[in-house]
Amino acid sequence: MRAVVFDGTRVEVVDDLEVRDPGPGEVRVAVAAAGLCHSDLSVVDGTIPFPVPVVLGHEGAGVVEAVGAGVTHVAPGDHVALSTLASCGTCAECDRGRPTMCRQAIGRPGRPFTRGGRPVYQFASNSAFAEHTVVKAVQAVRIPRDIPLTSAALIGCGVLTGVGAVLNRARVRPGDSVLVIGAGGVGLNVLQGARIAGATRIVAVDANPAKEKTARRFGATHFLTSTRDVRDVLSTGADHAFECVGRVELIREAIDLLDRHGQAVLLGVPPATAEASFLVSSLYLDKSVLGCRYGSSRPQHDIARYTDLYRTGHLLLDELITHTYPIDAFPEAHEATETGRVARAVLTF
Ligand SMILES: [Zn+2]
Ligand SMILES: [Zn+2]
Repeated sequence: MRAVVFDGTRVEVVDDLEVRDPGPGEVRVAVAAAGLCHSDLSVVDGTIPFPVPVVLGHEGAGVVEAVGAGVTHVAPGDHVALSTLASCGTCAECDRGRPTMCRQAIGRPGRPFTRGGRPVYQFASNSAFAEHTVVKAVQAVRIPRDIPLTSAALIGCGVLTGVGAVLNRARVRPGDSVLVIGAGGVGLNVLQGARIAGATRIVAVDANPAKEKTARRFGATHFLTSTRDVRDVLSTGADHAFECVGRVELIREAIDLLDRHGQAVLLGVPPATAEASFLVSSLYLDKSVLGCRYGSSRPQHDIARYTDLYRTGHLLLDELITHTYPIDAFPEAHEATETGRVARAVLTF
């Protein structure tokens, strides 16, 4: 089958990848569509260290082909969105509603694929850039059939991360003020999460003025090209500031632009060894800096909620897709994502 494989030097579309049958507690999915997220590029440029060779892709949707022993919540033919969270479902963190903190779900890459007889790693327990993939049952979330799979593909990373950061981690409340630095794939989802949460002032900052129209469509009430002007709109600062770019100087700005009792939520991914600095005194007034893994999501719960919000017109998915590419055109999709020309490129199979 075809897939996008990174071998440590080159990233290319291959046609000789194989995937094993699903074992107990696993599901094999025929992937229909997969979004190209910056984290895939971060594996290629080394920002996210990952063993190779690896099949890229970590947000996708498709149709269940086969289920292993003990899997009862989905059956062949069901449409599913895929999460990246291979949580165990039985540990204390899973049981308290924090599957993103499950130790089974972090740093244990599997190798369900082979190429020329050699095992190939699975990225983010997912590898959606393959015509077929095998995931843990908990990662396959059944979705209504009327939701286009190209749109559903985006839920698994960008939506869970961005909307989840607002609703689950920051817990934005009606009337709060929100600052969003970076209006790319995650930033747009933070904007619509803030709108869904009922935030009153939602300020988007992005150096690229071409992003204004989309940012406003997703929920921004104000759009600025520089953080310098934020205080013109939010004179006492923001209740919540989301850094969605991954640059340490912008993390500093997010903290400096907080109102009293405000919280900065860090969603961008700087290089693994990056250090950020801030004035300790700037946090005295009950301010917080929050990390956030994968929108602090509970995928089976949250994806059901998001598909409902999509069907009622509150959550935008179709509008996130700026371009679709057949998998063979991966190099073009890669280039368009790298240069920021698209919010989300979606590969189709
Ligand atoms: Zn992603
Ligand atoms: Zn667990």
